[in-house]
Amino acid sequence: MLADMETWVLDLDNTLYPAGSALAEQLTHGILSTIAQYYGTDVAGARRIQAELVAEYGTSLRGAMVTGTIDPHDFLDFERRIDYSVIGPDPALAAALTTLPGRKYVYTNGSAYHAEQALGRLGLTGCVDGVFDILAGDLVPKPYAESLDAFLTRFGIEPARAVMFDDLEVNLALPHERGMTTVWITEGSPYEQLAERRWRAADLPGFLRRLTNV
Ligand SMILES: [Mg+2]
Repeated sequence: MLADMETWVLDLDNTLYPAGSALAEQLTHGILSTIAQYYGTDVAGARRIQAELVAEYGTSLRGAMVTGTIDPHDFLDFERRIDYSVIGPDPALAAALTTLPGRKYVYTNGSAYHAEQALGRLGLTGCVDGVFDILAGDLVPKPYAESLDAFLTRFGIEPARAVMFDDLEVNLALPHERGMTTVWITEGSPYEQLAERRWRAADLPGFLRRLTNV
């Protein structure tokens, strides 16, 4: 199963740690407070603005940059106040990634700082060969083509020999079109094949272990 794959592309949030964690909650809260402060509104107003920014520009950060004059580092400052201790080590995932042959990259719409902190807490820092963050992508997020192209070019990735994991199905459409195998991380059975080069999995470590056993 997927024996000739050489590159593994991993989303971070809600993929390398479960959706619904207290970390995701803090991220949402941090983004909304930043928007509320920047646009001079309350949380309900910030929610509306965030939805508009995401619909139009892919992420709140990019929207705030394009429609305003906020510095991306100021926008991301809320990350410095996040308590990353709400997530803990995932030795099963670390072992599965370590055993998996090939290169592994984190491809995230978050910042490198956030990825570093989260990977550290998960015990996965040594398991990945690089991180491509929102700043590396010039603030253009997944699922835009400019982001995917910049990511593939940065690490010299051949799409036909790469597998991408993400909890947002929308982020996987273009990679699949480009020839990548995609794995949608979502609740349900441990893992199953949906179509050619398309999988879904609820149990990421289990799915990775299965790959190395075959
Ligand atoms: Mg995600």
